[in-house]
Amino acid sequence: MTAKNLVLLGATGSIGENALRIVQAHPDRLKLLAIAGKRRWKPLAKIAKDFAVKHVGIFDDDALAEARASGEFAADTVFYAGLEGLEELACLPEADMVADAVVGTLSLKPALAALNCGKDLALASKEILVMAGKFVTAKAREKNVRILPMDSEHNAIFQCLHGEKMEHVEKLILTASGGPFRDYTAAQMETVTLEAALKHPNWDMGPKVTIDSSTMANKGLEVIEAHWLFGKGREAIDVVVHPQSIVHSMVRYVDGSVLAHLSPPIMTFAIQHALLYPERAAGVDAPCDFTQALQLDFRPPDYGRFPCLRLAMEAMAAEGVAPAVFNASNEVAVDAFVAGKIGYCDIAKTIEATLEAIPAQDPDSLDDIIAADTEARRLAAEQCQLMV
Ligand code: MG
Repeated sequence: MTAKNLVLLGATGSIGENALRIVQAHPDRLKLLAIAGKRRWKPLAKIAKDFAVKHVGIFDDDALAEARASGEFAADTVFYAGLEGLEELACLPEADMVADAVVGTLSLKPALAALNCGKDLALASKEILVMAGKFVTAKAREKNVRILPMDSEHNAIFQCLHGEKMEHVEKLILTASGGPFRDYTAAQMETVTLEAALKHPNWDMGPKVTIDSSTMANKGLEVIEAHWLFGKGREAIDVVVHPQSIVHSMVRYVDGSVLAHLSPPIMTFAIQHALLYPERAAGVDAPCDFTQALQLDFRPPDYGRFPCLRLAMEAMAAEGVAPAVFNASNEVAVDAFVAGKIGYCDIAKTIEATLEAIPAQDPDSLDDIIAADTEARRLAAEQCQLMV
């Protein structure tokens, strides 16, 4: 067995850290060829040293200059600068797989470059499918390469679909923890503070994802991601609130059978499955232990208290640029909330106003999507100003 040469984009984030644990545990199967980060070069220097990585991408020019001058990287390190640098890394001839663990839409071009160069793409960055799923999935089909989901819900669905016929699938059922406010009343939702929104009961993630999961915008993004990954529409995708986050998602077939994927709420299970696919090997974290009592609860989501989820479902049904507009306006609104400029419930109001202002026409090219994204960011920022 030869080890897969892996390019890891977003190596210093929480997905990246978990991916590194898996690389470390399986040196016979995975070899870290290249790493990239946005601007935190110190952790990149440590990773480069620990894993003997020669190819290092740093998006931010100032951070790259500091890294070069620091003397903390080996003398033979090859640095890659900016977005073009990330695209170059994604196409390194020795690379077998590119793992995209970048939060946000920054990695759209590098991910497309990886697919275009015939690399399998292990994908955690949901925003790029939400924004440009039409073009990303078309590119994967054209080049006959795989998109392997590292997001737990999509990885669960991917596993539940194994060996089945897509025409036998009736529903993809994404589970959602419901976040820290799942039992709040509508009135309590109005009083949510930044500090409260940054605490997630089950998962340890970055601030953007944590807030998105508290508003359920995160689940909304995942629903749209599922739509693109598995080619199913609004009528065939549902969300169910499952507070324990042990069932990561389910697939119901036309005969009524429901297949589910279970593991403890730790990211390594999904990430390892994607990185090693189609092989399997011992996991790095302990699996579900059925010698102990285990309770699993399920209930339907409340679209009234979680308008971000409703808006995402509507954006998916509207198709065209609407999912990109949802994503962009959500990013702007979350930033404004984190900066203390708008209230918690203003996040959904900002998204709704932006979606209403931009018609959901079908994009002919990536440029159309980028234009809609830019316009959505501008309008959303204007909305946030109005709410001050
Ligand atoms: Mg997820």
